[in-house]
Amino acid sequence: MEKVRVRYPPSPTGYCHVGTARMAVVNYLFAKKHGGKIFFRSEDTDKERSKREYEEDIIEQLHWLGLGWDDFSRTTELVESHKTAMHKLVGEDKAYVSKEESKKNPGEFVEVVRLRNPGRSVTFTDVIRGDITFDTTELGDFVIGRAIDDPLYNFAVVYDDGTQGITHVIRGEDHISNTPRQILIQEALGFPRPVYAHYPLHLGADKSKLSKRTGDVAVRSYREKGFLSPALLNYIAILGWTPPSGKEILSLDEMVAEFELENLHKSGAVFDMEKLRWYNRHYLSEMSVEDFNAHALTVLRAAITARNLSWNDAGEKILSLIREKISVWGDISDLVAEGEFDFAFSAPVLDPAKIPGKGDDAAAGAKHLHHVRALLEKLSEADFRDSERVKAALWDYATEAGRGSVLWPLRYSLSGREKSPDPFLIASVIGKSSTIERVEIALNTLQSS
Ligand code: GLU
Repeated sequence: MEKVRVRYPPSPTGYCHVGTARMAVVNYLFAKKHGGKIFFRSEDTDKERSKREYEEDIIEQLHWLGLGWDDFSRTTELVESHKTAMHKLVGEDKAYVSKEESKKNPGEFVEVVRLRNPGRSVTFTDVIRGDITFDTTELGDFVIGRAIDDPLYNFAVVYDDGTQGITHVIRGEDHISNTPRQILIQEALGFPRPVYAHYPLHLGADKSKLSKRTGDVAVRSYREKGFLSPALLNYIAILGWTPPSGKEILSLDEMVAEFELENLHKSGAVFDMEKLRWYNRHYLSEMSVEDFNAHALTVLRAAITARNLSWNDAGEKILSLIREKISVWGDISDLVAEGEFDFAFSAPVLDPAKIPGKGDDAAAGAKHLHHVRALLEKLSEADFRDSERVKAALWDYATEAGRGSVLWPLRYSLSGREKSPDPFLIASVIGKSSTIERVEIALNTLQSS
């Protein structure tokens, strides 16, 4: 194969969305697999909607995902060469300037440039979809410039692909309908035809078409929710591609080694948030305890403060619990907001009716709590640091008197919640004095009810 040259041609009219990232991933994998070059071309031809901010975001997010390129250009900065090429086509009579009545302002005449369309059928071979034939007669002599010095998008794309020596145009199938026009322009300009590969677009969870203007599919929003870049990269890569090995977890290098355009799916995958979370959980599980804890602590602390609770050392003691529970950093903030970890930072407000175990009355609840308090009193502060020792101290009694009857009141007294971690763990997090204090509060609450 001749030296591979591919392009990333995003239009900077919105933040980098998953679709942009997918386009880049597919092109990156293909280029790297074949030792090729990647041309990043910011197609900023839409003057109203294109923004430098969006271009910067696309660059930033692709870098964050670990994707690079070899060359960077902006379509508007290449416009002089587009004009020269269009003048040349007109000079060769392959295109012509035509004076036409404006559709917008009837009565007004404007100049447009039209390509002389030979009007035959055009067949191109698409690596993913096979042969595709278009009858181009119905396109007629289509417009390639709003004026001799104002070439249209399709013209610019073809000229840039040609001069950059692009060998493979790998893009979403939403561009298929542009291809016959682009091929006709390419032939008029005398550029060789690249290989085309149009892959199906992926769909939203509700099977709707994803839109780049919907903020929730912006790569930055996944990043803000705390997804790790290798997880998002891995998920985006397998969204519409199955590596021959069948592996689901792959590093970028492994993906490059396995990648072939032919293995891209022929129908559109549905973006599955649960699957993305599964990937993220996997990559989180690969983090060292130190790295995990350092990051989790920062997120936890900010969330606790945002909930107006005062931070204390118990925060560090729930990190292993957090590690079991979360799939993505943002889950920490969600769990904190739901009150899941309040037990570590403040004494709960108790509903007396909820203190006794199932089927027990207040007297039975109080009896068990009294007994539990006595058993806990015998433990030292140091014993409390180990939830297993707390459990050992209570287990025989709980087994004898009924686990639900004994452990429910304790757990509820410590957490104030019907669902929470087990009471031994909570006791070890909050320590001896707070544990005893909360049991006493529960006893007083029962008594005064
Ligand atoms: N600029 C186009 C887009 O962002 C891509 C054009 C192409 O791949 O040829 O949709």
